[in-house]
Amino acid sequence: MLELRNAEACYGKAQALHQVALAVRPGQVTALVGRNGAGKSTTLKTLMGQMRLAGGSRWLDGQDVSTLAPEQLSRRGVALVPEDRQIFAGLSAEENLQLATVSHGAGPWTLERVYTLFPRLRERRSAQGTSLSGGEQQMLAIARALMTHPRYLLLDEPTEGLAPVIVEQIVAAIAEIRTAGMGIVLVEQNLHVPRQLADHYVLLDSGRITWRGGRDDVGDALEDMLSGLSGH
Ligand code: ATP
Repeated sequence: MLELRNAEACYGKAQALHQVALAVRPGQVTALVGRNGAGKSTTLKTLMGQMRLAGGSRWLDGQDVSTLAPEQLSRRGVALVPEDRQIFAGLSAEENLQLATVSHGAGPWTLERVYTLFPRLRERRSAQGTSLSGGEQQMLAIARALMTHPRYLLLDEPTEGLAPVIVEQIVAAIAEIRTAGMGIVLVEQNLHVPRQLADHYVLLDSGRITWRGGRDDVGDALEDMLSGLSGH
């Protein structure tokens, strides 16, 4: 299990997270929802060790890993796919994937396995990573994270701005890796994608958790809270 207990995080003097408690178990999807600026990306960065904990703690499989750096958490099986994807310029799609192998070695994820998960990437493997479409770049970013052999995958708005047909392909891929035992934290601003995947929901507002529930608890109330918060 990957977990934050009463996490606090700050940008300078501005506190972005207050007492955030959240967990994800192997083979489960925890959806982290909330409007722009609620602190969703900050929560993922705190899970990944990219944000220092100003209070509270981070736990991985029963061990306190509060002080570990992102590289150390990566070696222990945590991977983050950031919102901006961070595809390396000047490298082909396949070279982007191979870089992860250089840093993390062989393991359960191979080029063949990620190409089976995302057949489109096999077709586009020789193209410059940065020349891929938005949807292809998102697939590449997820595939590259998988090549680090994570047990926990943190996804920051993986379907934002993508065409519905691509969204469905990415949802299907996330469902497949969940079935393979991955613990997934899925950040989204709305409920469309989480509704298809999530076991648990956490609603963030102004850096605080204001609601949490299971898939059976999600109804119009959460929908209203989200649309009310985002001002629609
Ligand atoms: P979005 O969907 O826009 O990414 P979010 O829910 O992920 O929103 P965060 O990006 O975590 O929200 O931002 C939480 C708060 O921290 C916001 O008030 C934001 O302005 C602030 N913040 C985020 N990044 C920084 C930064 N690098 N420096 C200062 N403040 C920041």
